[in-house]
Amino acid sequence: MSAIDTLPPLSEVIKRHQLSARKSLGQNFLLDLNLTARIARVAGDLSQTDVLEVGPGPGGLTRGLLAEGARRVLAVEKDARCLPALAEISEAYPGRLEVIEGDALEVDSAAHLTPPYAICANLPYNVGTELLVRWLTPPEWPPAWQSLTLMFQKEVAERIVAEPGSKAYGRLALLAQWRCDARIALTLPPGAFTPPPKVSSAVVHLTALPAPRFEADPKVLERVVAAAFNQRRKMLRAALKSLSPQIQDHLAEAGIAPTERAERVPLEQFCALARSLASA
Ligand code: SAM
Repeated sequence: MSAIDTLPPLSEVIKRHQLSARKSLGQNFLLDLNLTARIARVAGDLSQTDVLEVGPGPGGLTRGLLAEGARRVLAVEKDARCLPALAEISEAYPGRLEVIEGDALEVDSAAHLTPPYAICANLPYNVGTELLVRWLTPPEWPPAWQSLTLMFQKEVAERIVAEPGSKAYGRLALLAQWRCDARIALTLPPGAFTPPPKVSSAVVHLTALPAPRFEADPKVLERVVAAAFNQRRKMLRAALKSLSPQIQDHLAEAGIAPTERAERVPLEQFCALARSLASA
C-alpha cells in the first residue's frame, strides 16, 4: 500500500497494465508517491482550484495532486495504454478526475476548466518547451491559468529562471520573467525516474503576474528579443539593424550601449527598446 492513498503501488500498476515506457512519448515515470505529493505541494493550495495535468501516464503525479486536495484534475494523455490505470484513480476519487485521451498540443483543455486554474505536469520532453511558450503567450493577460508547476530537463529549467550575464539567459527567460515570477523549486537526479533519463530534471514554479512587469507590445518585444538572441554574440547595433534604420537612436533612447550584447541586457531595457521601436 502506498503512503498517500489506498491504491496499489505504481510499480504494480505499471506491471499489471503492461506500461513499458516508450521513448517516443517521452515516458520517464515517477513512481515514488512521496515525491509526487511533494511536487503537488509546490503548486500550493489547490483545494479551490481546477488543475490541468498534461501526460499523467500511470498516474503518479495525478495521485499526488488528488491526495494533496486538488479540487478537480483534468488529465490529458496521448497514450491510450494508460487509460485503464487512470480509470482506477478516477474511481478512487469520485467526480474529481477527468481524463481526456489526446495530444495536449491539440486538445482544447481550457474548455473543460474553470479559470483561474493551475497547470501541473511532468512534461514529455519533446513537447514541453512548446507547451510552455503557448501558455506564456495567450491572446490576453492575465491568462486563464494562475500558476505553472512543471518538470523540465534541468538545463531548460535554468533557461527559464536565468539572469542577464549568464549563458542560459535568452528568449525563454525574458518571455517567462516578463509576465511571471519564476523559480526552480526542486531538482531531481535521473534516478528519480523509471527509466532514468540521461540528464537531471527540475521542477519550475511560475506564477502569473496581474500585469507585465514593464510595458511593451508583446509582438514587438518578441521580435526584438528574437533578433537580439538569434545572433547573441554580435553587438546589438548589428544584430538589430534589420528592425530599423535608426536602431542606434532607439538603443540610445532605451539606455542601451550600441556595442552591448544581448545576453547582458536586462528585461527592463528590452521593454524600453520595444516601446521606442513601437512609437516610431
Ligand atoms: N506524469 C507521469 C509521471 O510523472 O510519471 C508521466 C510523465 S512522462 C515524462 C510524460 C507523459 O506524457 C507520458 O505519459 C506520455 O505518454 C505523455 N505524452 C507524451 N506526449 C504527449 C502529448 N503530446 N500530449 C499528451 N500527453 C503526452
